[in-house]
Parts: sequence; C-alpha cells; structure tokens
Amino acid sequence: MSGTVYLVGAGPGAADLLTLRAARLLGEADIVFHDALVPPEILALAPRAEKLAVGKRSGRRSTAQRFINKRLADAARKYRVVVRLKGGDPLLFGRAQEEIDFLRAQGIAVEVVPGVTAALAAGADLGVSLTQRGLARSVAFVTPRAGANEAPSTWLQAALAADTVVIYMGAGEAAAIAHALITAGKRPATPVAVIENASIEARIAPGTLAELPALAAQLSGGPALIVLGEVLRNAASATQRATPRTRLAR
Ligand code: SAH
Repeated sequence: MSGTVYLVGAGPGAADLLTLRAARLLGEADIVFHDALVPPEILALAPRAEKLAVGKRSGRRSTAQRFINKRLADAARKYRVVVRLKGGDPLLFGRAQEEIDFLRAQGIAVEVVPGVTAALAAGADLGVSLTQRGLARSVAFVTPRAGANEAPSTWLQAALAADTVVIYMGAGEAAAIAHALITAGKRPATPVAVIENASIEARIAPGTLAELPALAAQLSGGPALIVLGEVLRNAASATQRATPRTRLAR
C-alpha cells in the first residue's frame, strides 16, 4: 500500500488565494515538496510536514525533473499524504504531466487540486476582464520557453490567433517576443502590460507592444507576465482603481 500524491496549486502568491482544499491537505500532509515560488505563509499551513524545496525558478538551477519524480514516488511508499505544491495552477507550465505519468506507472495514486493561475491574478490586479463582449472572445496562455530537446514552441501562432494573450516565462525575452509578434503582423500599438508579482505586491507597467522591451526592463526580478490585447486599451486608468496594494510603475 502506498500513499497518495496530491499535486496542489499554491495560487499566484497571496496566501489567501489558496483553495480550502489545498489548505486542508497541507494540514494533513506528512511531507511537502514545493516550488521556490511558494510563499512561507502557505508552507506554514503544513505544520507537521517535512518540507522540501525542489524548485524551479527560471534562469536558476533547479532540481532535475527525474529526480523529483523519484523522490515523490519514494515518499508515497513511506507516507500517507504527500503534497507536491506548485505555484499557480499545477497543470499549467509546471511539468505536472511528467509527475502524473511517472507516479501512475508506479501504481501510485495521484490527485490534482487546481489553483489560481498567475494570468487570472494579473487580470484581477489590472482590474481588466480578459474577455470582453465584442472585443475579446479568446484568451491564450502561452510560453515561448521550450526545453533543449523539444520542438520549437508554437506560441507565436497561438498568440496571433487569440484576442487576449498572456505570456508566461517571457519577460526575460521581451525584446525577442515584441520583435516576433510585430514581424508576424501584430500592430506595434497593441496595448500591453507587464505584471510582476501579481497578487502580492503587483507592479504593473502598461504600454504598447513596441514599448514592451522598455517595460520589461523596469522589472525587479520577481515572476512576471506579459498581457497583450485590446482589452488593455484602458488599462492605465483601470490600474489606478485596482487594489490598494497595486501600484503603477510609471
Ligand atoms: N503554474 C504556474 C506557472 C508556472 S511557470 C501558474 O499557473 O501560474 C512560472 C511563470 O509564471 C513565471 O515565469 C511567470 O511568468 C508566471 N508567474 C507565476 N507567478 C506569478 C506572479 N505572482 N506574478 C506574475 N507572474 C507570475
């Protein structure tokens, strides 16, 4: 008999955006494997658990995925409740499928608990609906990031096809992203916002696609998203009305 591995979404950063189910499982957890982006207030909800950072922070050294898979399986053979806590939603840009497939192949039960993904926290901080009647009926979550041996990312086609685009793990390549989008036909005047630390101490830099490299240059090292689309046309005025914790970077 082995325990269950719960792939749990930790949400975008604010501890009180965690689901009640996630909080309950953390309270029951024997061991928690967590990403670097998971805040300490959330880990504090797992008082009896051993806590291990196995995290992933873009551009920095991270624990090899195969090693994480193995440690999860080993923990499930030893403990009843194993929590794998991932930033945002576990099933978006988090390599969850590799963990699910590996664990299931070993006969270990896996359950997923969804979380608030960063894009939705960014929409909230902007005070902008990502879909809008008559203006935006599709939203694409994309990343230009692809692993060394993977096929090139199809992010550009997806970004061109959607009305609103949220780009994960892209702020470090803002210049290349803006260039690719404009070359492919997106208007340089398309409204854009870069949101750093959504839901925590959000910094919002609004502008246009042509200005994207300059907007990204204002970032101070926190996780950041690029949002693109006509829904942001009035974002500058909207951000002034956003949550008190939100401030305008320019
Ligand atoms: N599974 C996560 C995404 C993991 S990829 C989710 O659903 O949100 C990590 C990327 O997510 C970061 O590079 C950044 O682009 C984005 N991100 C995560 N937390 C963020 C936050 N609080 N504010 C802005 N972007 C964030």
